[in-house]
Amino acid sequence: MSAKIIDGNALAREVRAEWKTRAERLIEQGVQPGLAVIIVGSNPASSIYVRSKAKACDETGIYSEIHDFPESASQDEVIQRIQELNRAPRIHGILVQLPLPNHFESRKVIEAITVEKDVDGFHLYNVGALVTGNTVFPPCTPFGVMKMLEKSGIAIEGRHAVVVGRSNIVGKPMALMLLEKGATITICTSKTHNLAEHTRRADILVVATGKPRMITADMVKPGATVIDVGINRMPDGKLTGDVDFESVKEKAGYLTPVPGGVGPMTITMLLCNTIAAAERTQARV
Ligand code: NDP
Repeated sequence: MSAKIIDGNALAREVRAEWKTRAERLIEQGVQPGLAVIIVGSNPASSIYVRSKAKACDETGIYSEIHDFPESASQDEVIQRIQELNRAPRIHGILVQLPLPNHFESRKVIEAITVEKDVDGFHLYNVGALVTGNTVFPPCTPFGVMKMLEKSGIAIEGRHAVVVGRSNIVGKPMALMLLEKGATITICTSKTHNLAEHTRRADILVVATGKPRMITADMVKPGATVIDVGINRMPDGKLTGDVDFESVKEKAGYLTPVPGGVGPMTITMLLCNTIAAAERTQARV
């Protein structure tokens, strides 16, 4: 059996088109959704992500501005800018590109963002909201995975979902979102014994470890849905996921590729969260 490949680029185009209509409706009412992205230092990968976010905003009718700070910038300086953006009526979403330089306490910087503009969903209030099933801004990567499952018609309720990885930005919120939709959850980490025993029980397997091709066909249940969040740059310059695509595609029922899988959905969900933030502001007027 050969897996159905979930095309993240095509799904991202479809979701963006739906949300572009919502952005246009807001613009007609005199409110253009606005996103501010803060970047500190010159991490090349971060610069690429920030540029692609700005381009995606442009294509979806969202106003965006980039606040670029040198590596030497102080935490207070960055927090002061966030406070200004918290008050700026043109801005509905604020995102701080991570990682921040070592002299920053990321938690303090994120907590400076007002909850209503925390479109990355990393503020502790938003994390708590997610835990209690009152999500305000779902974190973009797991939100993108949920959208992929929904759009591909993959049932979640009553299924066994195994999430490999427990980071605050992917693994943990992913598990919570699947739990909220009625899945039975297993979370695996680098400390898990006999990983394959767990992954082989997954109807839905989400992998976010940053370990290239670590999930092989023998670790997958026949017909399972396998979502590969990993993005790894290999020595030859090519990108690969955490799943061994070639072998797993012969065993899984559904599989996401890398690149062209979860990645395009992550940026898309940031756009959705920004438009939703503007809609909420408008509803309060
Ligand atoms: P982190 O490094 O923060 O977390 C990795 C997690 O994987 C940890 O919880 C770690 O366990 C676990 N892990 C590592 N090795 C193993 C192993 N051998 N077996 C089981 N678990 C293991 O990474 P992120 O969550 O930030 O990112 C994961 C991957 O997803 C990366 O490749 C990243 O580039 C990619 N990514 C992709 C995005 C997208 O848009 N597609 C967005 C964000 C990330 P422990 O906690 O025990 O150390």
